[in-house]
Amino acid sequence: MRELHQTAPLWQRASQKPRRAPPRRGSVTLTGPAPRSTPIAAQIDRARLEACAHQIAAAGRALGALGWTPATSSNFSMRLDAQHAAVTISGRDKGQLGSDDIMVVDLDGRALDPQLRPSAETALHTQIYRRFAAAGAVLHTHSRAQSVASRLFAARGVVRFEGWELQKAIAGYSSHDSVLELPVFANSQDMAVLARAVDGWLDAGRPLHGYLIDGHGIYTWGKDMPEARRHLEALQFLLECELDLIRLRGTRP
Ligand SMILES: [Zn+2]
Repeated sequence: MRELHQTAPLWQRASQKPRRAPPRRGSVTLTGPAPRSTPIAAQIDRARLEACAHQIAAAGRALGALGWTPATSSNFSMRLDAQHAAVTISGRDKGQLGSDDIMVVDLDGRALDPQLRPSAETALHTQIYRRFAAAGAVLHTHSRAQSVASRLFAARGVVRFEGWELQKAIAGYSSHDSVLELPVFANSQDMAVLARAVDGWLDAGRPLHGYLIDGHGIYTWGKDMPEARRHLEALQFLLECELDLIRLRGTRP
C-alpha cells in the first residue's frame, strides 16, 4: 500500500471525510460468499489477512509478556485494505493469539462473518482508520503505568511531554525540544462518546498520536505494526518517566 511508505506524521494527514475505495478485484473470499446482510463485498486478500494475523499475534505475545494486556484486556488491529481491518476477538488471551482469534470488520466496525461479534472497542480502532488514511495498525493496551497515569492526569485532560529524548520515537518529532501532547479522555462504556472526544480533539486541528482513557488504558497507532509498537513503547516509557518524577518530587500534575 502506497500510504505505508509516506513519512509525514499521521496527524497531518487526518481526513474529515475518508474516501472509500471500490472492493478489490480478484481477491480471495475469506468466509464464502458475502452474506446478504453484509452491506459491502466480503472480498478479502487472504494472504494479506494471514500476514496481518501473524503480526497481530506476535504483538500480542510481546505485549502480553510485558504485562500490558492483563486479564484478556486490550485489543489490536491492522488495516487490511481501504475498507477492512483485522481485529482481535473480544475476551481472548492476547498473549496466546491464533488465527481463530482474529476477525474481519469493515471500517464501520461491522463483522463480515455474522457468526462473530466484534468487541465494542472495535469502533475506536475503525475510527482511527477512517480518520488517518495512512494508519496501518492500532494498539490498545492496559499497562499499569498507562492506567495510573490516566488517573493522575485526568483532571488536566492531557499529559504534556517536554524535553525527553524519546519523543523522537514518535513519527514527525525530530527533537527533544518539542511538546508532545497525549490527551486523557473520560472513560465511557459508550464508544460513541469516546469517539466524539477523539473527533473533537482532531477537529480542533491538534496533533494526535495516541490517547489515554481515564482509569482504562491507551490507544496508539502507526503506519504499520512496527511503527505502532514503537509508538506504544515510547509512550509507555515516557509515562513511566513522568510517574517517576511525580514520585520523586512528591508533586501532583
Ligand atoms: Zn480497553
